[in-house]
Parts: sequence; C-alpha cells; structure tokens
Amino acid sequence: MHPFQYERARNAKNAVSTVAQNPTATFIAGGTSHVDLMKENVHRPDLVVDISGLPLQSIGGHDGGIRIGANVSNTQVAYHPDIVARYPGLSEAILAGASAQIRNMATTAGNPLQRTRCPYFRDTTQACNKREPGTGCAALTGINRVHAIFGASEACVATHPSDMAVALSALDAIVQTRGPRGNRSIPFTDFHRLPGNMPQLDTVLQQGELITSIDLPAFSGRSHYLKARDRASYAFALVSCAIALEMNGGTIRRARIALGGVAHKPWRTPEAEAMLVGKTPSEVLFRDVARAAFAHAKPLEHNAYKVPLGQNLMVRALMETSGLLPLQGTPGTAFASSAGSVAGIIPLSA
Ligand SMILES: Cc1cc2nc3c(=O)[nH]c(=O)nc-3n(C[C@H](O)[C@H](O)[C@H](O)COP(=O)(O)OP(=O)(O)OC[C@H]3O[C@@H](n4cnc5c(N)ncnc54)[C@H](O)[C@@H]3O)c2cc1C
Repeated sequence: MHPFQYERARNAKNAVSTVAQNPTATFIAGGTSHVDLMKENVHRPDLVVDISGLPLQSIGGHDGGIRIGANVSNTQVAYHPDIVARYPGLSEAILAGASAQIRNMATTAGNPLQRTRCPYFRDTTQACNKREPGTGCAALTGINRVHAIFGASEACVATHPSDMAVALSALDAIVQTRGPRGNRSIPFTDFHRLPGNMPQLDTVLQQGELITSIDLPAFSGRSHYLKARDRASYAFALVSCAIALEMNGGTIRRARIALGGVAHKPWRTPEAEAMLVGKTPSEVLFRDVARAAFAHAKPLEHNAYKVPLGQNLMVRALMETSGLLPLQGTPGTAFASSAGSVAGIIPLSA
C-alpha cells in the first residue's frame, strides 16, 4: 500500500479546499470501496480526508420530494419509512447490493462513486486505461463476460457497478455539491460519464467537489428494481433494471427505465420510455419496448447473453411494476408491497 496521510475534515469548507488544492488527495466516507482499492494499489492517494464526521446525515422532506444527506448510510435509506412508501424501487436496489454489514457503513454519496468491478481495472499487472491512462484495455480482447454492451469505447468497456445509482437514475435524482467554485445541482442522468477517450473519469465531479446530498424529486407513481446476478446474494449485477411508472387511470402517463450492468453509467432508454406513454400495460407492449431498448446493443465476444437476459428482466420488471404480475423482486432482498410497506424477504431459493 502506498503511504498516505490521514486527516479528519473539520467542516465542509475545509474539506473542499484541502482536497481541491492537492490533486493526489481524496475524500473517504464509509471506506468500503476506497480502502479496498488502496490496499490493491489501484488508488494511491497521498492524503485521505475523512468526511464521515461531517453533519451530512439527515434525511427529510425537500420541495415535495426527499433530500438524503451524503453521509446517510445505505441501510438508513433502504429502511426509511418515507423511502419505502414513496420510492420502493430505491429501497429494493440498495437491498439487492453488497451485504448488511457493508450497507451499514456505505454512504449515499460513496455508493454511486464506487468504481468499476472490471477485473482488469483491479489487477495492476493488466493494461487498463481507466487505472492508468494510455496503457490500453485488456478487457477488449480478454474475458469480457461482465462488460458493457452500450456506450463503450475502444479505450474502455467497463460497467458501472452500483445498484443504488440505477434506481437514482430512473427517479431523476439530483446531486447537490459544494466545490472549490461554489455549489452545483447536477441531474443524476448527467452525473456519470461515458468512457470516450478519458475513461479515468467516472463522473463530472471536479477535484475537491464534495457531494452534500442527493435529492429525490416529488414522485407519486410506482417504482421497482430487479437484478440478475451469478449468485442470489453478495454479487454485482450482470444486468439490472429500475422502473418508475406514473399512471393515469389504466394508461401509462410517464415512464422511466434505467439499466444497470450494461454501460459505464446507469443506462436510460428514452426511446423505450416514449413507447410506453399513453398505452395500456400489456405483455405484448412490454416485449416490444424491451426489444427497442436493446436494439442498439453492441455485445463483445463473451457478453451477448446480456441482450436476452436484459430484455426478459425488463419485461418482468415492467409487468411487476404495472401490476400485471405480483411483485416478486430480486431473490434475497426485502421488497415493498403496492401499499408501500416492506412486505418481506424473498427466500433465496425463490
Ligand atoms: C464485497 C463487496 C460487495 C459489494 N456488492 C455490491 C453490490 O452488489 N452492489 C452495489 O451497488 N455495491 C456493492 N458493493 C459496493 C458498496 O456498495 C460500496 O463499497 C459502498 O457503497 C461505497 O460507499 P462508502 O461510503 O463506503 O464509499 P467510500 O469507499 O468511502 O468512497 C467511495 C468513493 O466516493 C468518494 N466519496 C465518498 N463520499 C463523498 C462525498 N460526499 N463527496 C465526494 N466524494 C465522495 C470517495 O472519495 C471515494 O472515491 C460491494 C462492496 C463490497 C466490498
């Protein structure tokens, strides 16, 4: 491990200026992602500024929606009664990830900022433009089973790993930041980047820019999250799907769909979303929508399976969200009933 200095942030202003002035400094919150990467020599900061003591720990009403402080733990968000009642898809997404112990430490800002699980990024003996720009991408010609089918480039085919981020994208969340040049509100859909020729940059955050909260806009529809993975728990998404549906009687007034495990960022599907507007839910409609959503997928040598898997997952997520199928959820996660309360845990064998 690279030697580093450790400092506890006194306040947000001090944390921002310290990290902004030092290009090799980073923030640390729950530490569940960052410390692993430091131990593996993937991240080599000279200075680590611990922001876990900053008062960014509240969760409550804001502009008709909910504001979640950057340091609120993933567990607190997932079980918060207002989140469970009004944004059950977010609760399901968080509970589909990691383990209870990790979720207790992991934070609202740290989760969407976790880095890719591409094995070539985490192995310092392999070429990786994301870890070390200009060295190449070993995944392009390597074992690329878990990699991107949308939005990739010759420089990088990695996927974004967070489940929570996929639900935040479907809910059109807003990231609030405090940076060296002032405060910003960043729509979640613009927060993560596609790799292009600068895959080392995952997001639009600047050096020293601190997330202070993530805001959920007012939403009175139904939301839901499904995840397909190699094991029933403690595994990252091969493909996942978050849905947010607003109904007008028996027809769909507005639909938002985000896919996880398929791109360098949570992947929204605007054409597919538009196909749903004004329509009555049906399996035939949902199959057409899923076909359209994956029409421009560009699979690599080992991941063509993500296309049929993703289409089927999207159809099932839409069927469950619209009430055509009972809510089943992702095995091993708590799920919300249509009345909004956490209804139970689906057995791992389901
Ligand atoms: C074994 C294992 C299994 C996992 N499985 C899953 C899974 O299935 N699904 C899933 O989604 N996740 C999974 N995770 C990842 C886990 O969710 C993340 O490690 C966690 O959410 C990161 O949050 P943290 O607060 O610990 O972040 P940290 O490790 O503290 O930080 C992560 C990054 O965020 C930055 N950061 C933190 N807070 C701020 C802020 N306020 N402003 C600006 N930058 C900030 C840090 O500088 C760092 O770059 C798994 C992790 C492990 C170890």
